[in-house]
Amino acid sequence: MSTQKLPDHLHAQTRAVRVASERSQYGEHSEALFLTSGYVQPSAEASARRFAGDEEGFTYGRYGNPTVASFEQRLAAMEGAPACISTASGMSAILMMCMGLLKSGDHVICSHSMFGSTIKLIGTDLAKFGVRSTFVPQTDAAAWQAAIEPATKLLFAETPTNPLTEVCDIRALADIAHNAGALLAVDNCFATPALQRPMALGADIVTHSGTKYLDGQGRVMAGALCASEKLVTESFLPVLKSAGMTLAPFNAWVVLKGLETLDIRMQAQSARALTLAQWLQAHPAVAAVHYPGLPSHPQHLLAMAQQSNCGGAVLSFEVKATGDELARQRAFHLLDSLQTLSRCTNLGDTKTLLAHPASTSHGRLTPAQRSLAGVSQGLIRVAVGLEHLFDIQADLERGLTSF
Ligand SMILES: *Cc1c(COP(=O)(O)O)cnc(C)c1O
Repeated sequence: MSTQKLPDHLHAQTRAVRVASERSQYGEHSEALFLTSGYVQPSAEASARRFAGDEEGFTYGRYGNPTVASFEQRLAAMEGAPACISTASGMSAILMMCMGLLKSGDHVICSHSMFGSTIKLIGTDLAKFGVRSTFVPQTDAAAWQAAIEPATKLLFAETPTNPLTEVCDIRALADIAHNAGALLAVDNCFATPALQRPMALGADIVTHSGTKYLDGQGRVMAGALCASEKLVTESFLPVLKSAGMTLAPFNAWVVLKGLETLDIRMQAQSARALTLAQWLQAHPAVAAVHYPGLPSHPQHLLAMAQQSNCGGAVLSFEVKATGDELARQRAFHLLDSLQTLSRCTNLGDTKTLLAHPASTSHGRLTPAQRSLAGVSQGLIRVAVGLEHLFDIQADLERGLTSF
């Protein structure tokens, strides 16, 4: 293998295409995909040193793979993180983080508006193992502060959130966490390192679902944690080794190549999202639009400062209707009238995806949890893709004008 020595101070866009371009003896220009579960050891002594962690070198597919390592190096470089460890999905990255950092009796603070499965994992599944949690309003830093207990080990935030795009102040939460001797983790799924680098704002850990924008074309599942070398090797790698939520090499290769176009995709998709949000806001059939790029968004200024002056590519809106039943009926009607865009509970694709959060991503929540998360029956999330804006608008207009 040979590694190109790159200059130290490259721009983010350059790092996204140039970092971790190791080449085998064949000199392939595109990064190789290594499909192997085992590795032949140079000697029994070397094998022993590698298994003991005293020497670099791959030993077994669950512990590591060159293609997976390339993805981790590139994502770390893009997040400005010292290290990265990847997993089979975004949720398994969050599970790995929790298993690595928390034990029975420890306490976690999250917002009510976290990703639905994150609320389930932390509030219900981890509770079975004695991990306690408090859920607070996303944008209320005083509430995060008030929830601190002596046993608080982790504050976990997501910004902007799904589906209401609420934005929290990463630097303020980092200060609250650090004053309490706790760590701050930020789920950077929606903004991605193209728009927002939480570690530069004081976060200790960045969690990712690579399934979303990092892949960018809806092909594979992947997840990752970016953090210090110490957290990765001492807290997270041991969980990977014993629990085995390993990222498949093929998926790592797909996401590694996806990172190369992340910046231009985020710019192009966010530009469409902004125009679409403005158009929806002026539409008579729409009651409210949630998008950080709109001046009417409650955290607009914070979002612009924290997210490279960009609102991102996800927005949500509420159809106008009186009562939950009619709102749900209209939202379903809109989704069923689509001819070009997709009814699909994913995001971060080049194809525009629409979802009804109350019956899908947030369907497993109790009505009380759903209402705390602000997910109403008339709410529709749009993850804006790369279609022509006029075609996106025309497909929505058909449903919106026929209630
Ligand atoms: C999708 C998503 C996850 C979970 O990722 P998977 O790859 O689906 O496991 C976590 N957080 C956010 C914000 C997401 O959108």
